[in-house]
Amino acid sequence: MVKVRLEDIKRKFNNVTAIEDITFEVPDGEFWVLVGPSGCGKSTILRTIAGLETATSGNLYIGDVLVNTIPARQRDVAMVFQNYALYPHMTVAENMAFGLRMRKVDANVIRQRVETVARSLSLEHLLERKPKQLSGGQQQRVALGRAIAREAQVFLFDEPLSNLDAQLRDDTRAELKQLHQNLGITTVYVTHDQVEAMTLADRIVVLNQGRIQQIGEPQSVYAQPANRMVATFLGNPPMNILPAKYKNGNFVVENQIIPCSVHVRNALHLVEGQAVDLGIRPEDLFINEPQKNEEVIALTVEVKVVEPLGRETLIRASLLSSSVQVNIQQAGAIRLRLGDRLSLGLDVNQLFIFDSNTGDRLY
Ligand code: ATP
Repeated sequence: MVKVRLEDIKRKFNNVTAIEDITFEVPDGEFWVLVGPSGCGKSTILRTIAGLETATSGNLYIGDVLVNTIPARQRDVAMVFQNYALYPHMTVAENMAFGLRMRKVDANVIRQRVETVARSLSLEHLLERKPKQLSGGQQQRVALGRAIAREAQVFLFDEPLSNLDAQLRDDTRAELKQLHQNLGITTVYVTHDQVEAMTLADRIVVLNQGRIQQIGEPQSVYAQPANRMVATFLGNPPMNILPAKYKNGNFVVENQIIPCSVHVRNALHLVEGQAVDLGIRPEDLFINEPQKNEEVIALTVEVKVVEPLGRETLIRASLLSSSVQVNIQQAGAIRLRLGDRLSLGLDVNQLFIFDSNTGDRLY
């Protein structure tokens, strides 16, 4: 097991900077997930670790070895891609043995290791098939098996589940988690799927436009996002953002008033007329409940879309007489009609406050 350390990594493609200021260290045996919207630089970071991409500047260590100039095949990392990248003319067994054969491992040792790994992934009955005779999920497991059989020091995954259908994706995600718990191999995993990020990661690295926005344990990043981008990226439906102005000790959102809590007033030096973005998670809004205490205030909204999901109901609404959208997530089935007006409870202590220019979280 080894740690992976990136120090101030930058990668430019001609004049375009794909990633910069990338510094983090994945400790021995941890599972880190890189997340962010399309084009934020996730794959470039992963490919740089693999040695498939060369950093324009910065240092990369695997274990204590500086690997900047060490070619991919000597880095002892195993990469699993979205499209599995299996050799079509080889059987499953040959695909899984490939990395070991390249390293001239003894044929008997190879056979034994392939069998052991195949058993652990329930692939033993498929060893003589060719990739095109397998389902997507099976191909993905073979790709995984090939990485495990190599006994690489580091696993790199680039959206390995994105070609699987929903059920298989859930199952394989759980398998991956278990596998990591058993093997404890240092892993860097790229996805734009926040469920994968939240459920698999020891720590997540949230990226946007080539830069790190925040690093932390999934739950703490969710609870304490560093800025508006992180806040709205993690969570589905995303956090509601209400543009507001601070006036006379209150926040004014369109024509409605949300009191500024004492805690916020003490913590921040808001000036009269200052523009901020208020953030509130859809699960922190509630309807049809009496107001329990004075911290709870009501917003008036008009229902636009109702999405019953069985276990919960998603409601898309807009603030009355405005285009500001509000998503509401409620447990159970809720009967509502389009155009209904709702009085929406919110606890002022649940509000996040962002600088409306920089997006930085103020509170
Ligand atoms: P996705 O989720 O869509 O795969 P990503 O977060 O993995 O995106 P990257 O593929 O790392 O993003 O790309 C980061 C940026 O670098 C993008 O703007 C992309 O267009 C650019 N880029 C990546 N590879 C190259 C290349 N070979 N030549 C030029 N630009 C590139």
